[in-house]
Amino acid sequence: MNGQFNLFAAFWLLGGPALALGAAVWVGAEHGFGLAALTFAAILVAWFLLRELLGIAVDVLYRFFPLRPTCRNGRCQAFDYQWVRFGESTVTWRCGCGTEYRQEGAMFSEVDAEGRVRPYMRKHWGRWRPVSRDESR
Ligand SMILES: [Zn+2]
Repeated sequence: MNGQFNLFAAFWLLGGPALALGAAVWVGAEHGFGLAALTFAAILVAWFLLRELLGIAVDVLYRFFPLRPTCRNGRCQAFDYQWVRFGESTVTWRCGCGTEYRQEGAMFSEVDAEGRVRPYMRKHWGRWRPVSRDESR
């Protein structure tokens, strides 16, 4: 975990309540407790709605532009893959069926039991397309 991620996670979790509290204190000093409480509640509700909407937006985005293709058995989707290791310019994933895949840039290749790498899918404009025979080495 790097510092940037932690900062983002902290903001994601506490940004809304912190903002609501700050605004409530500011409003409270001018207009009293009632309006301060209302401000606090309103910002908190807006914050949770925004988080919910962002979550849905990310879900939709990942459905249409998945990070990883469906596995060769057709059973595993992008989030069914487990990270195995990082290579120099590659990331190795294992799908729910136990098959290993190697991702290198836009290329997603299957790694068989003997360690042979076979190109499987290539990302094109955010969508995965099967690699045709003549493209594979
Ligand atoms: Zn699978």
